[in-house]
Amino acid sequence: MKRALKWFGIAAVLLLTVMVYRTFTFAGGGDEVRPVPLLEIDEMAVAERLAGGLRIPTIAYSDRSLMDSEAFDSFHDYLQSNYPIVHNQLVREAIGAHSLLYSWHGSNPALKPIVLMAHMDVVPVTEESVDDWTHGPFNGSVAGDYIWGRGAIDDKASLFSILEAVERLLSEGFAPERTIYLSFGHDEEIGGAEGAGEIAKTLKRRGVKPEFVLDEGGFILSGEFASTITGSDSPVAFVAIAEKGYVSLRLTARGEGGHSSMPGRETTVGILAAAVKTLQDTPLPATLNDAARSMIEGIGAELSFLPRFFVANLWIFKKALVGLSSRSGMLSAAMRTTTAPTIINAGVKDNVIPPTATAVVNFRLAPGNSPDWLVEMVRRIVNDDRIEIEIQGRWGNEASPISETDTPQFALLTNTIWQVFPNIMVVPGLSPGGTDTKHFQELTPNIYRFIPFDRHQEVVGGVHGTNEKVTLKSLRDGVTFYAQLIRNSTNQG
Ligand SMILES: [Zn+2]
Repeated sequence: MKRALKWFGIAAVLLLTVMVYRTFTFAGGGDEVRPVPLLEIDEMAVAERLAGGLRIPTIAYSDRSLMDSEAFDSFHDYLQSNYPIVHNQLVREAIGAHSLLYSWHGSNPALKPIVLMAHMDVVPVTEESVDDWTHGPFNGSVAGDYIWGRGAIDDKASLFSILEAVERLLSEGFAPERTIYLSFGHDEEIGGAEGAGEIAKTLKRRGVKPEFVLDEGGFILSGEFASTITGSDSPVAFVAIAEKGYVSLRLTARGEGGHSSMPGRETTVGILAAAVKTLQDTPLPATLNDAARSMIEGIGAELSFLPRFFVANLWIFKKALVGLSSRSGMLSAAMRTTTAPTIINAGVKDNVIPPTATAVVNFRLAPGNSPDWLVEMVRRIVNDDRIEIEIQGRWGNEASPISETDTPQFALLTNTIWQVFPNIMVVPGLSPGGTDTKHFQELTPNIYRFIPFDRHQEVVGGVHGTNEKVTLKSLRDGVTFYAQLIRNSTNQG
């Protein structure tokens, strides 16, 4: 007995030593990267060019027949006249109605190309909200420290920063060794099938296997927004290495309609409401997928000793963490398929019991959860044969594969981030929203989602909402970032 106790004691001390050691050696990076001198940029000229692009209403509508071809054509013309060297020296192809693919051929065909992505379409502005815009949604104004307008941050700032960077590099006589593709979709907001989807098919037909693909989906967080994640308000570069899937389910309750003066015990409305309530009250199971783990470890590396001790030893604390996940919105979204009832419909008149009642519930699928799995889970949770459950529309897709972070491609990206944003915390993670990269999954395993713009509290409210805007400083950093990324990527074997 004594001996067993002794061995137990030794094992406990060893375990603790390992755990403490892991905690101390669990560190972030970025300290050894030398910052690059910022490009001398005529900030106002860059801002004005972006503002001009924001004045062109390249709106994507779910009903494609509403899309304004002329707006897209004039957007193309606008790019052509504002980036003359790009249009003179790169090959430009219009693909799938209004998308653009630019090819900047490198001198060394043995090197795999890179793909920089952005999209030119924007979401519509609702009629009621037009008057709430300080500068009008399509006025394209440069005022205060911002460039204002629909699409400022999603995603024209990225598209223009890429073109600014390429125009600038070309003007300096820079010639890449590695081929660089610029892929600018025109229908990202409605799934991207005809834009990025067609561009990806074109590249695939040509046998292109990109070294990596970079698109929107991650960003820089600062201020209060950063502190909800890390507990400190210093900025965080959030690089999405995967994105969640997207499925909406339609729930339909059918029953006896009739006059409301003699109702049965339950009506379709009551049956449906109960099902929706049950679904909302029953979160789907959480698991520590690799993207969530990368995110938690990325944040943990920068925390104080105790939380770092916890994160550095997830091999022991995994279960506890999964248990904790329902308490934090961010953790929960990273670790489980989320449930959001969004539409409910029944009845037309107050004294008529409707024969059907329907609800739509939107789910963002976590990696590993398939639409079929989801339907089965929802059926079990609702547990009511009177409710029909079906996948709505054609938008159902699983979560993306998870790109690895232990690769030269990811190191190149993080080093470029640190060069432009010295010592910023880089956190890999899972994007809750979808991007055009879903069309590129067959072409490369190295897909990263990051735009170098600061989405602090003020700006976040504007994404798809009112008063969308981007800061002048963000725009300048953006141009520097893409120029540096192209330089770094082309010199790398
Ligand atoms: Zn977007």
